[in-house]
Amino acid sequence: MEIEKLVRPNILALKPYSSARDEYTGSASTLLDANENPFPTEVNRYPDPYQRKLKGAISKLKQVEATNIFLGNGSDEAIDLLFRTFCRPGLDNVVSIDPTYGMYEVSAGINDVAIKKVPLTKNFELNADLLLKAIDENTKLIFICSPNNPSGNLLYNNEIEKVIEEFKGLVVIDEAYIDFAKSPSFTNRLDKFENLVILQTFSKAWGMAGVRLGMAFANEKIIKLFNKVKPPYNINELTQKFALQQLENMDAIQTLTNVLIEERERLDAALNKFAVVIKTYPSDSNFILTKFKDSEQVYRSLVEQQIIVRDRSKVLYGDNCLRITVGTPDENNQLLKALSQI
Ligand SMILES: *Cc1c(COP(=O)(O)O)cnc(C)c1O
Repeated sequence: MEIEKLVRPNILALKPYSSARDEYTGSASTLLDANENPFPTEVNRYPDPYQRKLKGAISKLKQVEATNIFLGNGSDEAIDLLFRTFCRPGLDNVVSIDPTYGMYEVSAGINDVAIKKVPLTKNFELNADLLLKAIDENTKLIFICSPNNPSGNLLYNNEIEKVIEEFKGLVVIDEAYIDFAKSPSFTNRLDKFENLVILQTFSKAWGMAGVRLGMAFANEKIIKLFNKVKPPYNINELTQKFALQQLENMDAIQTLTNVLIEERERLDAALNKFAVVIKTYPSDSNFILTKFKDSEQVYRSLVEQQIIVRDRSKVLYGDNCLRITVGTPDENNQLLKALSQI
């Protein structure tokens, strides 16, 4: 596949900004090139624009070459970059599953790119043929989210692979919740598919939503394009340092992830015992989509009891559904107690 053919012509022709840290990357002791303040504050220097140290650590953990990694100010930055790099405003379009994460549509709107939303089945499964039917000659990207938000389930790998194999544009698989799932990441298929972009984030299992750090894994040509389009210093020094520290706490984070997975199973079983609950949808993530007899009444009652969940009753197939994030064991007990009051 020729990635160059998918790229917006102005981006292909773009001469990127060359920062001081691009032009000199050695380890000189006197840096008088970037108009920084010389007096040390821990953050008086510009950060590494390519986050080499951090990418080195992520590369080891994920078994993906550093040249196949892009880091963004949240995965939301990678989503926006995909539009800005590949989609000509007013001309191109993208395809996404429905229901799914709301940012694809918002980013499409900001970039004046049409989005075609293809329904999942009513059990939130992916039908590859239906998705592929929606593409036309101006479709540049397909967004697939697995495990999907707000339904919580992993989509079938063979259906996803069929989409990757048959579509001539880029297939973006958003794996924000993959650390809570049984299935391995698609990162081990990067060598096989040039048109695959995988998004992951430090916001969920890693517990770092506040630092804004997202990952994209893809073919080196795509990563180079992202590097060209992104703001030069998109990941700040504090974020890079903090993430490096947390990557050394891998065991502790894995333990907490396991607690959340156990709590998800406990919560799921407990939710299904309430008369106000019709059913829960199977989850491979850190939330449970739950169908109630009267979600509005449950939502209001929970708010009165100081508990906030997400109303998903207006999304496709989400009638009377609330999305409940798995909390600490104590928070989950509070939720169950509150539900028993209804
Ligand atoms: C939470 C979430 C993200 C995370 O976005 P960040 O910008 O990295 O915080 C990405 N995709 C999906 C589907 C999510 O639910």
